Amino acid sequence: MTHTTVPAYAAPSAKAPLERITIQRREPGEHDVLIEIKYAGICHSDIHTVRGEWGDDGHFPLAPGHEIAGVVTATGSGVTRYQVGDRVGVGCFVDSCRECDNCKAGLQQYCTGELGNVGTYGATGRDGEITQGGYSTHVVVDENYVLRIPDSIPLDRAAPLLCAGITLYSPLAHWQAGPGKKVAIVGLGGLGHMGVKIAHAMGAEVTVLSQSLRKQADGLRLGADHFYATSDPATFAELAGGFDLIVNTVSADVDINAYLGLLKSGGTLVQVGAPENPQQVASFALITRRLSLAGSMIGGIPETQEMLDFCGEHGIGADIELIRAEQINEAYERVLASDVRYRFVIDAATI
Ligand code: NAP
Ligand code: ZN
Ligand code: ZN
Repeated sequence: MTHTTVPAYAAPSAKAPLERITIQRREPGEHDVLIEIKYAGICHSDIHTVRGEWGDDGHFPLAPGHEIAGVVTATGSGVTRYQVGDRVGVGCFVDSCRECDNCKAGLQQYCTGELGNVGTYGATGRDGEITQGGYSTHVVVDENYVLRIPDSIPLDRAAPLLCAGITLYSPLAHWQAGPGKKVAIVGLGGLGHMGVKIAHAMGAEVTVLSQSLRKQADGLRLGADHFYATSDPATFAELAGGFDLIVNTVSADVDINAYLGLLKSGGTLVQVGAPENPQQVASFALITRRLSLAGSMIGGIPETQEMLDFCGEHGIGADIELIRAEQINEAYERVLASDVRYRFVIDAATI
């Protein structure tokens, strides 16, 4: 297989700062599209991964990035869905087995086949090569794992929808956030701010639960109806038993039991945040009020397209801080300090 060399920002080893390197991209095969990357979002998962917080599988140097927005610049001979010039996105996976029940149902993120869902970076693809992510200028992806970005969403504000957007859209849709439903979003970061926008557009009554009131004005502007500080113990007393659905986006350890106390009987707490450590849950918190504790991971290809179209119709894009590639390490520190408003996006022209 022939390859092209392209620049990328990558971590040379676990915990090391990212630096500019070159990586190899395969020549587009029959069903592949070549995408010129315009923008790549910085997801907290990129940081967990390159810092080895989810385990170090030795796939270094590793270029992260799974919130990719760009333009198609070449297509394989068998490609039918995309043409040169199309505005497209790539999210957290670039392939899956295509044969298991989940893949057939369009839930490729939960692929149970031998291949599994092939992560956009740090995973072993069908060809045996380790995938490299979107902090780069080009990527080659099978057309079946590429999304169409509506014209109404600027590409820089669209990039974060490919992970942060779908990760909140999927549980909000699955647990039927909508008129008459009280929804809380825990953590106003990249995922959380998309959750506020999407839940509001779905018609739910939205509350943000943030560590402090620092982001209150932003939260209300993004579409929240209420905003509370979790550092204030009075919050947990005042809101007890109030929510149909809570989506926890926090990247660190929190007291899950305190949040379970905020659900109505029969309510659901969905974990989308993926902290390094296991979290403790008291059975009594669940059984005494028939609560559900659930998890949700990104979304499948059909639902990701549905989310992009929904965002296009509702004028939703991410609130971003556009950065140059050499600012990536600095941006990581600000994400870790909960100081991102609300997603860093790398201008790929600076890589
Ligand atoms: P982020 O931008 O860093 O946002 C996380 C937010 O959590 C922060 O802005 C902060 O909000 C809150 N937070 C951080 N540290 C906290 C602490 N010690 N105690 C309480 N709250 C804290 O991260 P993100 O990109 O949104 O990702 C969030 C998590 O979701 C990460 O663990 C990521 O790996 C995971 N993730 C999961 C999926 C999935 O499919 N399930 C997809 C993408 C990402 P406030 O300032 O408002 O308190
Ligand atoms: Zn992500
Ligand atoms: Zn599968």
